[in-house]
Amino acid sequence: MSTDSTAPSTPSTPSTPADTIPHWIDGQAHPGGGDRAGDVTNPATGVVTGRVAFAGPQEIEAAVASAKKAAADWGSRSITARTQVVFRFRELLNERKEELAAIITREHGKVLSDALGEVSRGQEVVEFACGIAHLLKGATSPQVSTGVDVHSLRQPLGVVGIISPFNFPAMVPMWFFPVAIAAGNAVVLKPSEKDPSASIWMAELWREAGLPAGVFTVLQGDKVAVDGLLDHPDVAAISFVGSTPIARYVYERAAQAGKRVQALGGAKNHMVVLPDADLDLAADAAVSAGYGSAGERCMAISVLVAVGGTGDELVRRISERTTGLTTGDGTREGTDMGPLVTRAHRDKVASYVDAGVAEGATLVVDGRTVEPDGEGGGFWLGPTLFDHVTPDMSIYAEEIFGPVLNVVRADTFAEALDLVNANPYGNGTAIFTSNGAAARAYEQEVQVGMVGVNVPIPVPMAYYSFGGWKDSLFGDTHAHGIEGVHFFTRGKVVTSRWPDPSTVGGLELAFPKNS
Ligand code: NAD
Repeated sequence: MSTDSTAPSTPSTPSTPADTIPHWIDGQAHPGGGDRAGDVTNPATGVVTGRVAFAGPQEIEAAVASAKKAAADWGSRSITARTQVVFRFRELLNERKEELAAIITREHGKVLSDALGEVSRGQEVVEFACGIAHLLKGATSPQVSTGVDVHSLRQPLGVVGIISPFNFPAMVPMWFFPVAIAAGNAVVLKPSEKDPSASIWMAELWREAGLPAGVFTVLQGDKVAVDGLLDHPDVAAISFVGSTPIARYVYERAAQAGKRVQALGGAKNHMVVLPDADLDLAADAAVSAGYGSAGERCMAISVLVAVGGTGDELVRRISERTTGLTTGDGTREGTDMGPLVTRAHRDKVASYVDAGVAEGATLVVDGRTVEPDGEGGGFWLGPTLFDHVTPDMSIYAEEIFGPVLNVVRADTFAEALDLVNANPYGNGTAIFTSNGAAARAYEQEVQVGMVGVNVPIPVPMAYYSFGGWKDSLFGDTHAHGIEGVHFFTRGKVVTSRWPDPSTVGGLELAFPKNS
């Protein structure tokens, strides 16, 4: 049940004639010259809706060359000129976000309201990037020595690569590209081949906003495109988001090639519920965070740690709430949870449910028997709840990335904290309690990058940074916020002196002293 192989995927032959989703190179759609392509499927129907071109060496070279040329010009434009384009992109996105949400639902499967929420969270990063003039301000220290001043500045890197996963085809690229572009870089985005159309829609929007050709490029494809970016000498930095095995691989390979890298990986997020918590609030939160977007969120709650005898009551309240959820086509009114992204992924998640039963966990709600409000060919799996899960079980140890919530029981706060800290992942976590001291102790001691107190999915606002610890992030810089600005720029410190010509002269070979 490992996540991904490291071999390139084998391009398949089309099962139905359909449009090919292109690359976006030099400011326009580019069909790609090779015969490599993959199917794009609507997960709510199982019907192939299109083909996506897979880049080969020629497209990679053309993409990076165009980006390199554009970066030189774009990076030298005034902050005002760059910011005006970002503002325009923000306005267009805000006006037309329903279009993007519909594309996301068609290829990913999440319900429309959730897709719209994804776009809105991405838009917040665009809004943050509109303030780049303030974010790029350096420091200045006049008269550090007699007649000597120091100031610092930050400059763009050049061409930067973004490689994104299937689960947020708009928001995850938007964690990075608004800041990268506003800071003066050119971006080459390699989106997931499972839902590639959002990237082309965003490329068209950038063109409409007035972004010069080549500053935003899309390279569709698989491992070949990824490796091409990781190895290319003209790509200065890589921002990757995906599963942990691939994140580790990307980090190592890109670092080996001398690039700056941030590689965000998988997750196993725990929600700890203490006996003094409001159990209705906790049950609502567990259902929303466990089953929203069919559990295909890196910040989804996949483990609920019920502390000190709260287990029976929480399991009862959660299971009651699951009976009111509708699994179905995300475009239909009243649907709470859409399908999983592909048939293979649906079957993999279902196989974890089989494994949990075989390993002795108590299956309280079985999503394999769900009756969806959707077409028979969709990749359906309903909300699933396991109780009495233990750390040795595969459903606990591995990232499932589906609508499967595991309840683990702990006697004390300390036991719960040790459990969370022993987990190799450290993306997000939450504690539910009415005890401020316990919440504070958790916040201070937990080995996780993003912490919620009575908040189940603590995704930071755009002006803070997003990222996990341990196997959830390789590299040390998180996405967006000030860390994002630093990732996409290099610092420089200037020491200057403008001496009075009448006082200039004399040799001084000793180490300069400040006076
Ligand atoms: P994935 O790792 O399979 O793919 C991510 C990207 O890497 C895609 O663009 C894909 O084409 C590419 N890729 C896949 N296999 C490759 C290989 N062998 N060599 C080079 N490139 C390869 O991830 P996914 O299934 O698309 O997304 C789900 C995963 O992403 C989950 O593990 C989830 O936790 C994680 N994720 C993490 C965060 C976070 O912030 N930490 C956010 C979203 C998703």
